[in-house]
Amino acid sequence: MPDDTKLDWKVETLAVHAGAEVDPATGAVISPIHLSTTFERAPDGSYPHGHIYTRTSNPNRDALERALAVLEGGEAAACFASGSAAASAIFRALRPGDHVVAPDDLYHGVRKLLKEVFVPWGLSVSFVDTSDSETVAAAWQENTRLLWLETPSNPLLKISDIAALAELAHSRGALLACDATWTPPTVQDAFAFGADLVLHSTTKYLAGHSDVLGGAVIARTASGTFERVRAVQGLEGAVPSPFDCWLVLRSLRTLPYRMRAHCENAGQVAAFLAAHPQVARVHYPGLTSHPGHKLAARQMQRFGGMLSFEVADEDAAMAVAARVRLFARATSLGGVESLIEHRASIEGPESTTPKGLLRVSVGLEHPDDLIADLAQAIAEV
Ligand SMILES: *Cc1c(COP(=O)(O)O)cnc(C)c1O
Repeated sequence: MPDDTKLDWKVETLAVHAGAEVDPATGAVISPIHLSTTFERAPDGSYPHGHIYTRTSNPNRDALERALAVLEGGEAAACFASGSAAASAIFRALRPGDHVVAPDDLYHGVRKLLKEVFVPWGLSVSFVDTSDSETVAAAWQENTRLLWLETPSNPLLKISDIAALAELAHSRGALLACDATWTPPTVQDAFAFGADLVLHSTTKYLAGHSDVLGGAVIARTASGTFERVRAVQGLEGAVPSPFDCWLVLRSLRTLPYRMRAHCENAGQVAAFLAAHPQVARVHYPGLTSHPGHKLAARQMQRFGGMLSFEVADEDAAMAVAARVRLFARATSLGGVESLIEHRASIEGPESTTPKGLLRVSVGLEHPDDLIADLAQAIAEV
């Protein structure tokens, strides 16, 4: 991709071309998968192609990292074998003794990672309602180094004010990291509102087909904390395989079009559920009844492809999940196929998620078919 033109291109064009180069050795338009773990030195001892050993860098990973940085609008990206490994690298870049403020309603895997791995390692963490900026300010400590955000939150889709919280973090010498797994490029631009680091589980929308695990950290500026993230990546080696990088990069080519359809479908499903007499509550920021709607409209480009809704109780929720025919009863999100899950049971005994809540990842099927399936499943409850 020629560097001098990329700033003028629209996101659809960037998505198709970012990280793409015609292979100089063969003329292949789509890059080959470089399985070699080691790269040859020139007679003078230098590495003319820039790669030494695949844990520290690989052509396929480089291409994916360049593409992610371009699409997210950051200076640099580091890819990992999973979203959890990417989150770990950010926490690892802090120091024992540092304090982290995180949402009380965040992806349960990151909550457990913090509690079970990083608290014993030496971090302290306050889980608070980040949709209330004053609560965040009240949780601040003199050793707070990182504010972790997920907005919309998981699974209640609470909206946090990225710009206000970035200002708070920066005024007190801390960083703001956003887990943007639910809000990939074209849905929300966290850097534009002041985030310093953006995390993706590329397993979800970026890969988009439920067939590859991966993660990425993208940095607004490549210096400082990101240099430590990069060091953790190379030293700890939780890196994605060349094939996994190739698959994620292939999926990025269609990201803007997929996101458009995911979000449109989710809006229609949310409207259907909101009007249904047996549905007690729908959590989707695109609904004007959502308490965070105005803020979401300000900071999101689209309202996303994820939603959750509540029926009377756990039995009713399990019954709806049992009766769907088109949705798969499965965890995860962001694939072309729609998924539904009873969230409290996957989160385990510590979960504070309402027992009657079902979380839905709205896929790329026709929305009429999705709505018909939910209608028949809910009707019998
Ligand atoms: C899935 C997910 C993760 C973890 O990613 P893995 O690739 O499963 O390790 C982190 N944050 C959010 C919001 C997720 O949905």
